[in-house]
Amino acid sequence: MATIALGRQERIAALQYDYTAQPKDTLTTCNLCGAAQFVILAHRDRYGYPAQAHACRRCGLVFLNPRMTAEAYSRFYAGIYRPLVSAFHGRLIDARTIQTEQREYAGERADFIRPFMTGGTRKTMLDIGGSTGVVAAHVAREFGLHATVIDPAPLEVEQAQSLGLETITGLIERHDFGSRRFDAVIICQTVDHLLDVAGTLARVHQLLSDTGVLFIDIVDFRAAYLRNWSVEDAIKIDHPYYLTETTMAAYLRMSGFDVLRSDYASDHLHVSYVCRPGIADRDAMPAAASVDELLRELRFVQNARRE
Ligand SMILES: [Zn+2]
Repeated sequence: MATIALGRQERIAALQYDYTAQPKDTLTTCNLCGAAQFVILAHRDRYGYPAQAHACRRCGLVFLNPRMTAEAYSRFYAGIYRPLVSAFHGRLIDARTIQTEQREYAGERADFIRPFMTGGTRKTMLDIGGSTGVVAAHVAREFGLHATVIDPAPLEVEQAQSLGLETITGLIERHDFGSRRFDAVIICQTVDHLLDVAGTLARVHQLLSDTGVLFIDIVDFRAAYLRNWSVEDAIKIDHPYYLTETTMAAYLRMSGFDVLRSDYASDHLHVSYVCRPGIADRDAMPAAASVDELLRELRFVQNARRE
């Protein structure tokens, strides 16, 4: 066990990624509710980088703070992200090897959204954080849609291009779509990577046509910290956000999405949602009692460890 842990640390150290030196933004208000009272939950992430995770005292949203700037994240995705995840797991994970897993995921997710894609005349879809395009290509083929992929990682966008998809290399928070509208938007294993969840969901609400459908999934933060009984092991610099069912439900309702169906994935880690655009409910805040419960549970998990 100690040998494996040492091997992991050495592999990560060999990347010589200087997280401390990266430019960062300090967040002073919560992205979900706008409050300014935070609790610092953790001081390092699963790789050992000195990243702080904060929880909003009012709504229970968990996020990195400070966190890297958009430019620093662009560089991270261009060169460090996949090598870092490979070093962590001790096997090669890159734009090619992830495609087998993505194909399996695509099949499952297409089945999940199928009941909401029949009827109507949907023509276009946007895949935000679409990576290699494997998922977008599959979903587009299943439902006869023209697919556009936006992703910040150039090597993955290259793969998406080779599948004949329309591609945009960049961050959704920064791209101007003009007057374009899409009949479906999919955000697969991506929301935790965004820099501005509220802003992105508001943008998606504008980008969706009236009969549009949104698919989105989260890594359930509770599942992640209960899995290894460690808050630090559930934190990683690649995820600025750590969502729970409660905070995601609030995000969706506040951004004007009605959840048609949700799904607990068979990996016991992800939760998926199919939504349609509705009326934004600005008061859809998590109850104070649920925030207290979350913070109490987080502290309980930390108390159970001596490190
Ligand atoms: Zn909040």
